[in-house]
Amino acid sequence: MGEFDLIARYFTRPARRAVVGVGDDCALWQPQAGMQLAVSSDMLVEGRHFLSTVSPQRLGHKALAVNLSDLAACGARPLAFTLALSLPRIDETWLQGFSKGLLTLADLHQCELIGGDTTQGPLNMCITVFGEVPPGDALMRSGAQPGDDIYVSGQVGDARLALEVFRGHLKLDAQHFEAARLRMEQPVPRVSLGLALRGIANACIDISDGLIGDLGHILKASGVGAVVTTDWVADSAAISPAMQSLGMSKRLDMALAGGDDYELLFTAAPDQAQSVQEAANDCDVTVTCIGRITAGQGVQVMDPHGAPISRRFISFDHFSN
Ligand code: ADP
Ligand code: MG
Repeated sequence: MGEFDLIARYFTRPARRAVVGVGDDCALWQPQAGMQLAVSSDMLVEGRHFLSTVSPQRLGHKALAVNLSDLAACGARPLAFTLALSLPRIDETWLQGFSKGLLTLADLHQCELIGGDTTQGPLNMCITVFGEVPPGDALMRSGAQPGDDIYVSGQVGDARLALEVFRGHLKLDAQHFEAARLRMEQPVPRVSLGLALRGIANACIDISDGLIGDLGHILKASGVGAVVTTDWVADSAAISPAMQSLGMSKRLDMALAGGDDYELLFTAAPDQAQSVQEAANDCDVTVTCIGRITAGQGVQVMDPHGAPISRRFISFDHFSN
């Protein structure tokens, strides 16, 4: 099988909304009048962003999921994506699984694969997603206001927990490990929540590198500070049964600095609290209030008794880890 057969067999679908999809020099897309395009790229490199043990189907899912998560964080509706793929060799079993995971998630969000590039090389994939958002409605990192509540969607810490088990640093029983591993290998992008938070949230980001670090991006962009509580790490909807099997200190590490969560971290004025909960209910996801934006600078993490925790929660950084 050659490059073009591979593209035709695994990555070519009939165009739906696309004017021209895969097959010509460029895809063509007719933007909806008056809408802004939201564009984001995320690359996944073997050994860096995923382990060679991951099933190709879950990897296909994750490659798109992390990109859809960026659209979600902006409150943008997914439209289309391109896939740049570097493969060591043509492995049809791998390609079948990968394209199935990828295109199943794409169909779920009606996000069309409209083009890409395929080359031989180390296993590596880069997706660029395109979404749309009405002008002025995009959720930005820069809108947080002093007094805002800080929320996190879903559950945090599981992806890092699974990674630490893979690395042999922690042990979990089989059931908890499978649950945590699923969260690491097949994250659920919070697309509908992002859309529902338009006009409600003041600032939003998705958690990829770690909660405290990613919150830091909101604080810097908004020129504000934050106090983060930790009673929710002891007991809340944001902590899974797998996480609950850990002691508090490890839990804090995973929840606050773990990374790879792909949950939304957002702020909203206190008078929006009910709207936030309604949006979450409508999207079938929990949201947990984890702190408050202040007029200060930086993040202060409080222990469950309200005393400051001096220890730092350092996020993932590709060039300093
Ligand atoms: P060109 O040489 O003109 O850049 P290519 O030969 O790389 O085009 O690709 C042929 C067509 O297949 C193009 O429409 C391109 O967008 C598409 N394509 C290539 N690789 C992929 C892929 N991995 N997924 C989806 N479409 C792809
Ligand atoms: Mg060409």
